[in-house]
Formats: sequence, C-alpha cells, structure tokens
Amino acid sequence: MSNRFSLRKVKGEIITIKHPMWSTFVNSLELWLDNRSGCDDRTTMSRAILQSMRKFDVDASLELLRDHGGYCDCEVLMNIEGSRETIFDDDEDTEEFD
Ligand SMILES: [Zn+2]
Repeated sequence: MSNRFSLRKVKGEIITIKHPMWSTFVNSLELWLDNRSGCDDRTTMSRAILQSMRKFDVDASLELLRDHGGYCDCEVLMNIEGSRETIFDDDEDTEEFD
C-alpha cells in the first residue's frame, strides 16, 4: 500500500527535455523570468507553468528537474535547457509516455 512505486504512480505526465511540451515550457519560463526580472531561488514559475498546462504531475516533474540541477527557475533554464544533449539520456526513471 505504501510503497514508493505506487506513490509515484502517475497523476499526470512528467516533463523532460524529450517531452513534446518541453520547448513550450521553457519558452514560457524564459518569458516569465524576464517579466519578473529574475528568479526567486525557487521553482515558483516552473510550478505555475506546469500547473497551467494541466497535464503534468507537477511535484514529480519538479522533483525530476531538481535531480538534474534545476533547483530554481533560472537553473532549470541554465542547467537543463543549457545542457540538453547530456541530460535525461541515461535517466532511470524517465516515464514512458503514451
Ligand atoms: Zn534561480
């Protein structure tokens, strides 16, 4: 009942660089960060954008982003979007999308 696997079981999709919505996500994030003149050292905007897209498991997605160095909104852009070739390729818990 309380095993981690079933807890993780999908409330929605998980954003990764390979997801078709990734560029939409990143573009929105860039826009938001410009408009607010910067990052608040959290993933406030990433969370808001993922929520607004309505198809993602927001917590699981943010957790995955953190695993890859995206501890705040600007780091999501820098560390993940900035190194898209090297990331997620060897990720053990990338979910399969239908
Ligand atoms: Zn930041």
